[in-house]
Amino acid sequence: MRTSIKGASSLATMSPEANSAHDYRVLVLAPTRRDREVTRELLQRAKISCALCQGALSMAAEIETAAGAILLTDAAFSDPHIDQLLAALSRQPPWSEVPIILLCRTGSPLPVAARVVDSLRNVTVLERPTSSRTLLSSVQAALRARARQYQLREQFEALRASEAALRDSELQFRTMVNSIPQLAWMAHPDGYIHWYNHRWYEYTGTTPEEMQGWGWQSVHDPTYLPKVLERWRASIAAGTPLDMEFPLRAADGGFRMFLTRVVPLQGEKGRVLQWFGTSTDMEEAKRTEVQLRATEAALRDADHRKDLFLATLAHELRNPLAPIRTAAQILGSPRLASQELRWAQNVIQRQVGHMSLLLDDLLDIARVTQGKLELKKERVRLTDVVDSAVEEARPLFDSKNHQLTVTLPPEELTLVVDPLRLSQILSNLLTNAAKYTDPAGHIELMGDVQNGMLCLSVKDNGIGIAPEALPRIFEMFSQIDGASARSEGGLGIGLALVKGLLELHGGEIDAKSGGRGRGSEFIVRLPLAASISAEVPVTGADAPTVATACRRVMVADDNKDAADALAMLLELAGHEVRVAHCGRAALSVAQTFRPEVALIDIGMPDLSGYEVAKELRRESWGAGIHLIALTGWGRDDDRQRAKDAGFDRHMTKPVDPGVVEAMIANGNGLSVPRTEGCAGRR
Ligand code: ADP
Repeated sequence: MRTSIKGASSLATMSPEANSAHDYRVLVLAPTRRDREVTRELLQRAKISCALCQGALSMAAEIETAAGAILLTDAAFSDPHIDQLLAALSRQPPWSEVPIILLCRTGSPLPVAARVVDSLRNVTVLERPTSSRTLLSSVQAALRARARQYQLREQFEALRASEAALRDSELQFRTMVNSIPQLAWMAHPDGYIHWYNHRWYEYTGTTPEEMQGWGWQSVHDPTYLPKVLERWRASIAAGTPLDMEFPLRAADGGFRMFLTRVVPLQGEKGRVLQWFGTSTDMEEAKRTEVQLRATEAALRDADHRKDLFLATLAHELRNPLAPIRTAAQILGSPRLASQELRWAQNVIQRQVGHMSLLLDDLLDIARVTQGKLELKKERVRLTDVVDSAVEEARPLFDSKNHQLTVTLPPEELTLVVDPLRLSQILSNLLTNAAKYTDPAGHIELMGDVQNGMLCLSVKDNGIGIAPEALPRIFEMFSQIDGASARSEGGLGIGLALVKGLLELHGGEIDAKSGGRGRGSEFIVRLPLAASISAEVPVTGADAPTVATACRRVMVADDNKDAADALAMLLELAGHEVRVAHCGRAALSVAQTFRPEVALIDIGMPDLSGYEVAKELRRESWGAGIHLIALTGWGRDDDRQRAKDAGFDRHMTKPVDPGVVEAMIANGNGLSVPRTEGCAGRR
């Protein structure tokens, strides 16, 4: 039996499960041992569980556990711990009033007894001595009353659990509604808004006091507000949902468009119990929609320009074929005079050159857009690059009788750039200036250093560019209406290529024009600091040249015409040439001929050029052959593949016979220049 009271625990806090074993036991506090034993026997006979307490203190402790009823005599009033017992009884939960049966001697009770009796709520006083039957029936009545209290306890616990569940779900709802990006609120059936989520206050920068009820009107746009009020009142009257777009003012004072949806929570017979509203920011969605529309239009436009480009390309590739065909026919004439022969040769050279330029541009733009174009930077003088660009454009300037003025900074500028590409950029701009300017025009190429940038400008007094066309002039396939007649075979990719090449150099380009008929100016800016460096050797006029030499050359190509034509040209230049029209033939020709230079096509049907190169490199005599790959593929990985197969060089078709010849003649990459006479082709 316990002798101490645990201050923290009480009947109010004990769970029903913990108490259930003792729920119906009777706690007995009797003055003598004999009284206790008699009472226990009496209760046990009636199958009533009981616990005999030694004093008021131990009874107080037992009450903390559980009690069905309490049986005590007035002798307990003189127990020094009676107050602890009364305190334990006073700590009962709301549903509990432990029935107390108090056995008192006949006559007026002690003053302390009167106080105790007054403070107890559910006490039955029996006079002593009392019959066993009376005592037993009183105890049973007390336990029955206690059973009803336990029923109450269950209801009370169930109510407490559902209240806790409600609090939990309320918390979940608020947490969820406060975490969404939408503004959310709740209103009474009459439209009085009584709650907003955090996002509302965050967005509007208002306080709950300002917003209560109909205070929301202060964040509405006055031009929309009457309509909003009208629709909201109509919804309240009819109990129907509302869907509406209107602007709401943000904390910074600006308005953003929101889509607001209000739905009623309905009870019996459709009665509105509560309104729930959310407002979703539509600004982002609207912006995305506008962007999507613009992207769609741009795609459609790009598609249209691509179609136009393909049509132009087909036209431009077909154009040179007619004069080539005519020239070829003339070459076949038996009575061909040397003047006509030269003419036909010039025509073919010019037209093939034109087609090659087109194809080069196409390959270059493809490489630039795929990020596969690699610059071969070296130290070069600005004047050398400008000279080469001017030289390139010279024929067109001469044919149109244009006047070109070149003004460069007085000091010699050394750049670290890809000289071929920078020259390509300038010649492209000069050619455009010449094309889009009427004969006898004035074109200026000016160079200047400004804020660490090299500025090169190409200015003409030609047809000019309309303001609306300027922003798109550097896009692919852009040819301005009306200008295409002057494009002279352009595909509308030149400026896009120029821009791409400049960007690879860390530079930029800008176009200016006063409008139609007022000339144009293209300004190129290149970072000068990155351009000047002492590490890369200067190439150009000082580059060493090697004496012309006669070589043993093998040409291998399954395109018979291409192979024979190249062979003929090399023979005319004095080299000794052998031709093979497939890979295996190339290996056997090389076996006996032992060429110093071999020009090998990659795409041959039996053995590819790569395989031929590998086979040749395996031979003891093949290690020193200067191997040149001829191919239609000019991507960087094609070059790498050729290098891996053992090629020294890689040339994209159509190769310029002059370049091949010069390469062989100058012994580029070859050991000792040969000087003995050559035997031509066999
Ligand atoms: P294209 O091959 O047609 O010349 P580009 O990309 O070089 O292609 O130029 C695109 C368009 O820009 C040209 O079709 C032409 O309409 C316009 N353009 C380029 N340069 C000039 C210029 N100097 N004066 C007027 N218009 C020009």
